[in-house]
Amino acid sequence: MVSPKAVPSIKLNNGVLMPQLGLGVFKTQEGEEVRNAVRWAIEAGYRHIDTASLYENEQGVGEAIRESGVPREEIFVTTKVWNTEQGYDQTLKAFDASLKRLGFDYVDLYLVHWPGRDKYIETYKALEKLLADGYVRAIGVSNFKEHHLEKLMAETNVVPVVNQVECHPRLQQTALLEYCTSKGIVLEAWAPLMKGDLDRPALVRMAEKYGKTPAQVVLRWNVQRGVIVIPKSVRKERIESNADIFDFELTAEEMAEIAAMDENFRYGKDPDEFLF
Ligand code: NDP
Repeated sequence: MVSPKAVPSIKLNNGVLMPQLGLGVFKTQEGEEVRNAVRWAIEAGYRHIDTASLYENEQGVGEAIRESGVPREEIFVTTKVWNTEQGYDQTLKAFDASLKRLGFDYVDLYLVHWPGRDKYIETYKALEKLLADGYVRAIGVSNFKEHHLEKLMAETNVVPVVNQVECHPRLQQTALLEYCTSKGIVLEAWAPLMKGDLDRPALVRMAEKYGKTPAQVVLRWNVQRGVIVIPKSVRKERIESNADIFDFELTAEEMAEIAAMDENFRYGKDPDEFLF
């Protein structure tokens, strides 16, 4: 368990604070599984949960947050509009449905889940409307490459606060991180644990040195790069240990050694090829 105060918050470009560590709940079952994961996370010090309409577990996320006894405003909740819900009116409807499932009157961060083919501009304009109307505290995107961001910023008014993309030692997104930083957009890493594929000698060696696990080492590496991490687990011990990353620091040499592990390898889809 870490004190929520030990988890740094990142100030987004609209002044909202976002905890640098959150719990991801992709593939976590609606009902008891997600309620347990969120409860354990909150008990372990997490104050940030990352869900999406696609994950079909927003209801359990909302319930677990209410049951935790921690005030709603102390927990940062992200959800996302799915590809099939894109378009201005459809997005407004999808948001309304997400909000009802969560049982909240606002969400902290609403993201366009993937750029898809050609509707992300009108979709994002609906997010701007939700922001103006006070239903969301911040808006952003996910799986956007530089060219998507360039077009978005040319055709809309609100600079996204974050871009949530696949990011881990095998796909470091260094150029995108630099680009986003230059625009005031924070990079947020999905699959920060490489989907659990962590058995690599350099990571194991660093973990042994600090009395940590390879999972903690890769999360720490991204935290030191200023990236937000949202590791997923449904197991109490892992949820706890994945948060216990704020009491050690990788050296510059270790950061460089991990930097050399980049292979441009994706566990997920390339956004330019995920066109629906
Ligand atoms: P992660 O990299 O977080 O890996 C999750 C996997 O790692 C699970 O199989 C989990 O198993 C395992 N795991 C968790 N902790 C440990 C540990 N300490 N040691 C070894 N294995 C571990 O992948 P995700 O795809 O879940 O990404 C994280 C979050 O990012 C998602 O849950 C979701 O919120 C978001 N996401 C966003 C996407 C987007 O398009 N915007 C796409 C994909 C994810 P177990 O549960 O059994 O512990």
